[in-house]
Amino acid sequence: MHPLRISASFSDERSVMGIIDHAISRKDFLRASTAAAAVIAAAGVSGCSPRERTADEPASGKPRATICENDQLVLEGKGEWKPAICWSGAGCGGMCLNKAYVVDGVVVRSGTDNDHDDTEANPQWRACPRGRSKRQNVYGVERLKYPIKRKHWQPGGGENSNGHLRGVDEWERITWDEAIDLVGSEIKRIYDEYGPRSVLGQFAFDASAYSFFSKLGGFMQMNDTVSYGSYTPFVGPLGFGYMGEPGLPAMNDRLDLKNADYIVLDGCNPAWASAGNPMFYFQQARDAGTQYAYIGPSYNLTAAALDAKWIPLRNGTDTPFLLGVAYEMLRLEEEEGGIVDWEFLGKYCVGFDLEHMPDDATLDECFKDYVLGAYDGVPKTPEWASQFCGTPVEDFTWLARVMGKQNKTMFLFSFAGFRTNGSENLAQLIMTVACMGGHAGKSGHGFGPGAYGPFAANGGEMLVSPGLGRIGDIPNPLEECGIPTIVGWQAIVDGKYTSYDEGVLTGDCSVFHEPVEHELNIKMIYALQQNPLHSRGNGQLKGVEAFRKVEFVCTQDVFVSDTAMFSDIVLPIVSQWEGNWEPSEGDLVWPVGLIPLRGDVNGNRNKEILPVEHPVIKPLFEAKSDYWVQERLCEKVGIDPEELFPVSQVQFYFDIMAGATYRAPDGEYKRLFSIRQETADKYHVDNKPQDGGVMDLEEYFERGVFSVPRDDGYVFIKYGDFIEDPEGHPLETASGKFEIYCQAKADGLNRCQLSEEPIKPYANYFTPNSGYVSSFEDWEGKVPGKYPYLLYQPHYIRRAHTQNDGSTWLREALENPIFISAVDAEAKGVKTGDTVRVFNDYGQVLRQASVMASIMPGCVGLPHGAHFDLDESDPENPIDLAGSENMLQGPDHSNYLYSLSPYNTTLVDFERYDGGDIPRDCERDIAHIDFPEA
Ligand code: SF4
Repeated sequence: MHPLRISASFSDERSVMGIIDHAISRKDFLRASTAAAAVIAAAGVSGCSPRERTADEPASGKPRATICENDQLVLEGKGEWKPAICWSGAGCGGMCLNKAYVVDGVVVRSGTDNDHDDTEANPQWRACPRGRSKRQNVYGVERLKYPIKRKHWQPGGGENSNGHLRGVDEWERITWDEAIDLVGSEIKRIYDEYGPRSVLGQFAFDASAYSFFSKLGGFMQMNDTVSYGSYTPFVGPLGFGYMGEPGLPAMNDRLDLKNADYIVLDGCNPAWASAGNPMFYFQQARDAGTQYAYIGPSYNLTAAALDAKWIPLRNGTDTPFLLGVAYEMLRLEEEEGGIVDWEFLGKYCVGFDLEHMPDDATLDECFKDYVLGAYDGVPKTPEWASQFCGTPVEDFTWLARVMGKQNKTMFLFSFAGFRTNGSENLAQLIMTVACMGGHAGKSGHGFGPGAYGPFAANGGEMLVSPGLGRIGDIPNPLEECGIPTIVGWQAIVDGKYTSYDEGVLTGDCSVFHEPVEHELNIKMIYALQQNPLHSRGNGQLKGVEAFRKVEFVCTQDVFVSDTAMFSDIVLPIVSQWEGNWEPSEGDLVWPVGLIPLRGDVNGNRNKEILPVEHPVIKPLFEAKSDYWVQERLCEKVGIDPEELFPVSQVQFYFDIMAGATYRAPDGEYKRLFSIRQETADKYHVDNKPQDGGVMDLEEYFERGVFSVPRDDGYVFIKYGDFIEDPEGHPLETASGKFEIYCQAKADGLNRCQLSEEPIKPYANYFTPNSGYVSSFEDWEGKVPGKYPYLLYQPHYIRRAHTQNDGSTWLREALENPIFISAVDAEAKGVKTGDTVRVFNDYGQVLRQASVMASIMPGCVGLPHGAHFDLDESDPENPIDLAGSENMLQGPDHSNYLYSLSPYNTTLVDFERYDGGDIPRDCERDIAHIDFPEA
């Protein structure tokens, strides 16, 4: 058993139900029970299982969770196991194979992949605790059940909006007819009166609402680098590539991990963030003898599991750290030799030294001479770097040897270090240091994003992909529609903003331009399965101000989000477990949307599996599909729904499955599924029968996943073609090589005119606008400033972004504390479990302290994604009781890249809270909306 894989005994429902049983007296569980009762009533059964009430049940009829009766249903085989996809896959790299045991239309158990032996070539796709608690998303207290309207909101704008009551008003249940009428008429009124620039939309680009609002003329969007920080804008010009091939999967295949002598993980914590199979892959390499190092502000679970050497580093200081490593590599090369791969640098790179400059260079400077201090008189020694990053000098030397050419080394990173102010040069610097040791394009060598989402620990092209369907997406036609997220809410409140780029997720520098002033008059905010009030804009308090300013806010979602709580109308949509393909049983609904629709390069699944999206249960409550909603809204606003949705969701899914392909052992991509006429008839779709697939489509529905066997000897090596034949397979850069000196990067960023001093074409150090240095009032005198602690915001095993926060099981199993160094805690008189107030000029939150010896003094960690629980009883000092990290986010933009997401260089202070202790999360109410009767 691999220590970080959830064992069968832990995952067994007896344990999970034991947690429920333990929690039964708590008020949050009673709420959940009430919700469960409603579900079961909707499904036409009683109690927590389909049976008659027994004599020992409470007369109240309230359901009681009992282990025995539910176990009995399973033991007696009253139901069946069905594949039940995990839709928490935001960035975790999973879409693991979840299973649900369904009895009379109710899911009574959760399970995961156990159909075959767990091998390297064909691993089980086992779900993590988030996936295994999906039942609580579907049936839990946070589930949205009926269309609802905020009581004091009335259509028409003006004072009728009563916007100041958003978040504190009562709710009224309304019918779908009323909801569609109100939402449709408000959308039409606002577009007619104010135009598309008055609408802020927050949808995935392939969501139905995206096409709907695009068809209306477009909408404004929040514009930032989201999860990728400073990584995305430069990777193309540098030679990294971007989303498509050869793109984000910028590392070698998982099967090559064990060929490395060393794997260096910079800021990665897949044990929390990518808790499906990525840790399994890393552990296999460890078992084969690969040694690990982990760089970051705390010794995390991943590092512990891999027995990694910890190289401590303050968040946001990767750039000076790696400059120090580069200096040390040069010093060791000079003194001992065998470290720097000069042949690699000369053949595959430009700009390391003056003998190998690119043709388009306008500056007669190179990286090597900069590191040695030729231009500023400051050699970038470990001692120089350590003043910023806090890393012991000997660790620079250790890593410099590891990165040397005599080792097979992979330098893999998460995007955490890129989500920091001042990180504009980090991608280029990682590439530079890796190239100094010749670590690219060869087995056991590499650099790239190694613990992120779809390609976590497993780079390379998709080995299995869906085809295309007959529902296309309509792009947003509105030009200059991006509001920089870093000032997003402020812009709505102020009615103006300045833009410096038009989209920063394109992987090139052409998006940057000189500053342009814009007026802004947002009247409507509309979100579909996104939670912008939590995760966009500059802080939730400013977000609340912006929300309360506009005339109309509408949310479509499965469960209560921060955004839903501050909306005027909330429309419940089905979860990914719900659907119906039988016309006689209601609307056609299929849970499409997770398997990306266009080539799946940005999908959230592992490259070698195609998990089934098939209904597990019928739609619950009054939830509808988002397509159903958008089709009705089309009719209200005068759009022909056929233009947007020419076929049903069921048909759409069958179309993309009919076109699915996989990589066969001979390297050819071949048809994946055979489809029989009786299958098409059963699902009422018009697909012609097809044969020649490797699997029958209905067999796939039963199995739950198709995995490409990895026993054919194929192993992807990133940059392998380029290294073998640099002229025949040049990189897509100006020089065709890795650009250690990159003129396009510098020219692009310098067009923004954000800093007087232009950025260099090579990776240099500059003092970040905010971060460790600015935490001092007097840097030279080392006088701490008002907010002396560096906050980082780890992705946490309890949640996938803001999903799963309402799971009572996960709340009970995992606290959501603030992680504090033992040194800092002692200085502040704080002990583990104490309630602390974390604050800065933008907001304040309360959390219990978790005091650790394994976190650097000066750094504090607050897990990402808690739904905020705003206490506004003191209007001058609102405080969040739930520890939402975005309460502390301000408009502190980076030096050269305005739209960077700088979450990990937030500055805060903390203190022991003198207002009394707050309850543990599992004892607090879960965000919910009461549902009065219609
Ligand atoms: S690793 Fe991701 S996809 Fe897999 S179960 Fe966990 S949250 Fe779901």
